[in-house]
Amino acid sequence: MNRQDVSEFNGSEALGRRRLIVLARLAADWYWQLDAQLKYVFCEGTDFNISGNPFQDRKGLHRIEFLTTNFDPHPEIDAHARALENRESIDQVLTLNHDGQTLHVRVVAEPDYDNHGRFLGYLGCSRDITDHVLIEGQLAHLAKHDDLTGVLNRREFERQLGMVCENLDHSDQVRSLCFIDLDKFKNVNDSAGHAAGDQLLRELADLMRKHVRADEYMGRLGGDEFCLLLNADGESAKKIADAIINAIVLYSFSWEGQQFKIGASIGITQLDEDIESVDQLMSIADNACYTAKNNGRNQSYFSNECSVSQRLTLQRLSMIRNALKSNCYRLLMQPIVSADQSDDTGRYEVLLRLECEDGELLEPSDFLPMAKQYDLMRELDYWVVSNSLSALEKLTLNERESTSDSQQQSKIAFNINLSASSLGDRVTLDRILKRIESSSIPHDSLCLEINETTAIRNLSELIQFMDSLSALGVQFALDDFGRGQSSMVDVLKLPIDYLKIDHALITQLLHDPCVRTIVESMHMLSERLGIKTVAEAVEDNATAQMLHTIGIDYIQGFAISSLIDMRDLLQNRSQHVALKEFAYLPNTLV
Ligand code: GH3
Ligand code: MG
Repeated sequence: MNRQDVSEFNGSEALGRRRLIVLARLAADWYWQLDAQLKYVFCEGTDFNISGNPFQDRKGLHRIEFLTTNFDPHPEIDAHARALENRESIDQVLTLNHDGQTLHVRVVAEPDYDNHGRFLGYLGCSRDITDHVLIEGQLAHLAKHDDLTGVLNRREFERQLGMVCENLDHSDQVRSLCFIDLDKFKNVNDSAGHAAGDQLLRELADLMRKHVRADEYMGRLGGDEFCLLLNADGESAKKIADAIINAIVLYSFSWEGQQFKIGASIGITQLDEDIESVDQLMSIADNACYTAKNNGRNQSYFSNECSVSQRLTLQRLSMIRNALKSNCYRLLMQPIVSADQSDDTGRYEVLLRLECEDGELLEPSDFLPMAKQYDLMRELDYWVVSNSLSALEKLTLNERESTSDSQQQSKIAFNINLSASSLGDRVTLDRILKRIESSSIPHDSLCLEINETTAIRNLSELIQFMDSLSALGVQFALDDFGRGQSSMVDVLKLPIDYLKIDHALITQLLHDPCVRTIVESMHMLSERLGIKTVAEAVEDNATAQMLHTIGIDYIQGFAISSLIDMRDLLQNRSQHVALKEFAYLPNTLV
């Protein structure tokens, strides 16, 4: 809208002009008019927010002359001058530096023409957006950096690493990735509190930063994990990593009069053109770090795993390990029902699965052997126990809330497997014991399943653990009985409540009379010893019927029910209540 339009629209030029000025005041800090020589005809508005306000009245001054005499030279001022000379519409942010202070000014201006198309000058508005630019800068910084330590956050570090990987072919720069995990960091959190842990992370980040050059990258991945991308080959990177470990080991952290010593393990890998993805690179370094930890901590380990099978192994291993942190393990429940209706407890065996990114659930045989090999079973067992107890607590509470009549409440029980690694480790057993002791569930609703072979191997320590838990009311099942070499004499020494007959015997039951005799005698002996028998892997009604005839106390398997997702069980009580019907299975069979 030009002046003519404005005056026509408003009826008078003076009124139109006044309205424009009011609008300009609302929209801008300064509004101004230049003549055809780009000299100020007028300029009104607030003072510049710079101490001393050194600007004289601009009237008659050339706009660019005004800017260049009052502010340091800046390419944006040159660009602004060019746009004015070319009579372009202007929408620019000018960075104006004066005496060490910086203003960011948004300038919007339109060239002005008379009715004959003659250039009259410019009408413009400017707004001081310095605060806005600073806040935007802070937000951009926050989006890329870790709040606690100020180093790059995981996303930004991986983005930078991705860009470096993409350009590997075109760069002569040799680079290495270091994956750092502090050793025993949790001790500080546990003994001095989270705030102390946070402060230690800050101080160690500063300490590590000293080993990183300005053109290299440092990031915090989360928790006590950091990464460095160094401009160095593997050998030099290892020296830097060892220097960092040394500095951390020598570092003494004080908090409220207490002194703490800490260590670090570092995995290193050198970037090469064969690398297929940032994830793969990170998993090589992560696994190298894990090896450094397994080798005794406070040390570095260099790895350049390259074969396809090694890569697949590494990816799987990373997935297994990270799944603990990212909660990708899933618990499925297999109902165990009383074959003679004498027990209507909703009893389930808790089964572990690993959920892949695409939602596929991996069977234990796909990940447990590797978890065993890389010493992850104890953590996994604890995770299963802890999560199962939480679920059991919730289910028990739901039952109590849904019916006040305790007779009507369905009793729920979980059978949880413990691996040989946990059963052979005092620390893990103590951790599990404490978790169970602190749980609000009736302790007899928990049954721990131990494997026959393992049980016999760690007999004396295991009996001690079982006795402590039995005293609380926790029950025990001996799993896979009939697979190993142990005899009833050995079994007698263990305080077990259930004997689970190995599935290899159950699947042969209908086809091999000899197997039937073995199962019958197992059941007979168990009965004499006051131990209940459980048949697992019961896949058809005929086998279930025969087990019932033999007198086996409980059965589980696909003949009874498919697996139930624990999350569904938690969300939907009817899933559990419906299970009561399984307890009347013999009626449907006879
Ligand atoms: P390891 O020697 O095996 O590395 O064990 P660790 O004690 O160092 O513990 P781990 O590396 O397994 O786990 C890191 C712990 O750091 C887990 C969590 O309790 C703690 N943690 C995670 N994020 C933060 C945080 O932001 N602040 C603090 N203070 N602690 C954190
Ligand atoms: Mg750690």
